[in-house]
Amino acid sequence: MTPPVRRLSDPVRYVKGVGPAREVLLGRLGIASVNDLLFFFPRRYEDRRELTPLSSLEGGSMSSVVARVVAIEGRRSLKKGLSITTVLLSDGKGMGKAVWFNRQGIESQFLPGVRAALYGRVDVRNGRVQLTNPEFEILSDETEDEKAFSIVPVYPGTAGLPNRAFRRIIRTCLEEYLPLLSDFLPSGMRKRLALAPLAPSVGEMHFPESRERWRAARKRLAFDEFFLLQTGLALRKARASGGEAPAPPLFPGALVEAYRSAHLPFTLTEDQKRVAEEIFGDMARSVPMNRLLQGDVGSGKTVVALLALLAALDGGRQGALLAPTEVLASQHYQRLAPVFHALGIPCALLTGSLSQREKREIHEGLESGALRIAIGTHALLSENVAFASLGLAIVDEQHRFGVLQKQTFRSKGESPHVLVLTATPIPRTLTLTVYGDLSVSVLRESPPGRKKITTRLISPRKLPELITFLEGRMRGGERVFWICPLIEESETLDLAAATVRAEELKARFSPLGTGLLHGRLSGEEKQQVMEDFQSGKISLLVSTTVVEVGVDIPGATVMVVEDPIRFGLSQLHQLRGRVGRNDLEGYCFLLGTPTSPESRERLEVFCSTENGFTIAEADLKLRGPGEVCGVRQSGITDFRVADLIKDRALLECARKEAFSLVEGDPELAGEPLLKERLFFLLGRSLNLVETA
Ligand code: ADP
Ligand code: MG
Repeated sequence: MTPPVRRLSDPVRYVKGVGPAREVLLGRLGIASVNDLLFFFPRRYEDRRELTPLSSLEGGSMSSVVARVVAIEGRRSLKKGLSITTVLLSDGKGMGKAVWFNRQGIESQFLPGVRAALYGRVDVRNGRVQLTNPEFEILSDETEDEKAFSIVPVYPGTAGLPNRAFRRIIRTCLEEYLPLLSDFLPSGMRKRLALAPLAPSVGEMHFPESRERWRAARKRLAFDEFFLLQTGLALRKARASGGEAPAPPLFPGALVEAYRSAHLPFTLTEDQKRVAEEIFGDMARSVPMNRLLQGDVGSGKTVVALLALLAALDGGRQGALLAPTEVLASQHYQRLAPVFHALGIPCALLTGSLSQREKREIHEGLESGALRIAIGTHALLSENVAFASLGLAIVDEQHRFGVLQKQTFRSKGESPHVLVLTATPIPRTLTLTVYGDLSVSVLRESPPGRKKITTRLISPRKLPELITFLEGRMRGGERVFWICPLIEESETLDLAAATVRAEELKARFSPLGTGLLHGRLSGEEKQQVMEDFQSGKISLLVSTTVVEVGVDIPGATVMVVEDPIRFGLSQLHQLRGRVGRNDLEGYCFLLGTPTSPESRERLEVFCSTENGFTIAEADLKLRGPGEVCGVRQSGITDFRVADLIKDRALLECARKEAFSLVEGDPELAGEPLLKERLFFLLGRSLNLVETA
């Protein structure tokens, strides 16, 4: 019988020592294949190399000891069958003891006179130190003391699989499978960048010989994670701009000119002008634009989007603007429709709450080309929606849409240009990771004249003072947002409920007008509430996070957020961005008590800065990439080794290498190993696999 061919994709149970029970335990850690196991790295390491003489053991420390066994004593305690084994030790200079609880049979492993290496916690009992439940190994007389210990990996634990067993499984796996792992980096690149070879690096990550070698191994593996992803993104970008039908080259013309000269309500910032030019530049090419417009809250992304839409119309094509909520889509429509009307451009608002007949009319208009612009919600993605000649598709607050939804939107035209807008800034490292195949424009400056927003964390005990403050503001004609995390009383979570809160505040502020906005209202009801708030009929709007994104009410000056720890920093930043949108001073009050030092730290970062880029970086550091970008499930940011904050330089380097490699060899024909590894690891999450 020929031995079976081993592959890295083998299920873990092929590794000696892994039976069905352990296979289940490993599965819980997300380890299914041998490859998963090889790349399942320790959570931390214990450096056990430094030996402590028995006479110097200190209570509370974790210590390594080499000593000879003097005597063994097993004792069954009277209490509930508790057994205690004590071993007396001597290292020539001092005496000590090691104690194990409930480890029957352990005494048989020791004989008086043998040498043992022990590692464990040092406790003080009755004034004497002892090692409690140490790990140990019997040493042969040849083993030098210094070799008895090493840097020991500690794996993320799971019940039923002790670390010792885990380490043994890893050792076996390394012996059996590591030789199969071929180095997929182009060798010239590896040498030029002075990166360590792959297989030894994997071994070193599990069982480091020294800190220096571990560091080199870690660098290599972090580079790989970045490099593989960037290569995938480069391939995706190359394919997107290669195969498909060419996009319509569109140039800004009479409409853009007319808007700029006669309808623009303010002067564009330099940033807005620059970014508009970047977009026009893309749209003028026959390769479809695929651009991400990043800008802080209130930086004025909408007007840039409008300019792009006008350029599409100038080019004789239709334009569409997709927004995640009905509130936001209507707001865009109300702002933009007057401009389009003034310029003689037929446009429509398409949302789910229209009647069938209204929808059908809009569908017909878009399909015949009579309607030139569509602004809408998910209703735009319906299969009934078709365009005569969609030239530009814009997605506002793009993180609220999934990849497939964006894909559907794009497919409404023949290779239309695509512009996606972010809600908040994203740290550059994360942009490169998640949107690495898009071109990026950034709006850094805010429109002039913005006042600072004062942000405070307020204890619920101070509620009466806050109410008084709000009353003063509202009497002066200013408007207040009050955000609650949920819409119904939830006993289990004890969240402030928006409905209850709205009743309370309504009673308190009765003459001033209080409204309630939440996701379960109908489209019309929402519309009405927003109009009343805009006009000042309502001074205080209690709301769930439906107002989180995009909403622009220049008269609003105060934002109160209840239970702020329930929100991510970027989300809080979005909420705060709803106020301070004019020349009045803005306030943001976080009403709640941090429940942990971490949540306090997060909120303090938030109170201390208004810079969205700084906040996004802090969010990334504190909550991880998946939460910040809403890509938790995609697997793209699940790095095992690389760190988006610490390894920034490495990411930039990996990106440069990857893109230049793909530029010279768009099919990776010269790098079969790299190609194989890339498709094996990322083919699915990056959509690189050819689908028939
Ligand atoms: P966001 O980038 O968050 O989507 P908006 O596009 O809603 O921001 O713009 C925020 C506010 O700033 C709007 O009221 C808009 O009219 C105003 N604004 C945009 N650009 C300028 C500018 N150059 N000068 C003055 N106000 C501006
Ligand atoms: Mg916006």
